[in-house]
Parts: sequence; structure tokens; C-alpha cells
Amino acid sequence: MKDCVFCRIVGGEIPAKRVFEDDATVAFRDANPVAPAHALVIPRAHIATLDEVQDSDRELLGRLLLSARAVAAELGLSSTGYRLVINTHAGAGQSVFHVHVHVLGGRPLGWPPG
Ligand code: 5GP
Ligand code: ZN
Repeated sequence: MKDCVFCRIVGGEIPAKRVFEDDATVAFRDANPVAPAHALVIPRAHIATLDEVQDSDRELLGRLLLSARAVAAELGLSSTGYRLVINTHAGAGQSVFHVHVHVLGGRPLGWPPG
């Protein structure tokens, strides 16, 4: 989708610090990190929110989690711990409407989240 910033990152039109990619997903450092390690994992295909994901996308959902795990390992978080977050709709803090999984770590993460 041409007006989507994450589609433009997938297409290479906007630079990003990629940390992982495969045929279905791309992961890159968040431009405004909220933790020492903060990356985003996205599907190459444009899907606006988790609520637009179809039953036929169930393999893709698994691929996103496996990529997030690979990103956590790449960022050195496997032993210290990490958190995955999918903000869904503006009321939960979603600001980019292309599904993404936040991978957060590198500091103690409080619970419950804000
Ligand atoms: P959301 O608020 O939708 O859950 O998360 C969107 C995230 O995308 C934010 O953490 C924001 O910092 C990040 N972001 C927005 N635009 C860009 C960009 O152009 N490049 C990168 N690397 N991250 C971005
Ligand atoms: Zn998109």
C-alpha cells in the first residue's frame, strides 16, 4: 500500500535498520525506541490491524512469532527476557496501521503494562 510507512520500509523506499528478514516477514529497529532493545516485526503483506487478519493468515501469524523469537535472539535477549506487544487500534496505542509485533527488552519490564 503506497501510503503505508511500513510497506515503504518493506519496499526499501524508507531506510530502516533491519535485524532479520525472511520470505514472509521483515524486522527492523524502532525509530523511537522505548527500551534499549526495541524492534518491530511485520508481515511483508499489508494488513492494517490484527482484526483484519483472516483465518487463511494463520500460518503468517505463526511466522511472525517465530521471526520475533529470532529477533530476540539476534538482539541478545533470549536469556535476559523480552516482551512481545501487538497494539491493536488507536485506543491501545496503535499508530501505524500495518500489523507489527514489538520486541522489547534490555531493561526490567514492569507488569501490568501502562
Ligand atoms: P504502534 O504505536 O503502532 O504500536 O507502533 C508503531 C511504532 O513504529 C512506533 O514505536 C514508532 O516509533 C515506529 N515507527 C513509526 N514510523 C517509523 C519509521 O519510519 N521507521 C521506524 N524504524 N520505526 C517507525
Ligand atoms: Zn503496509
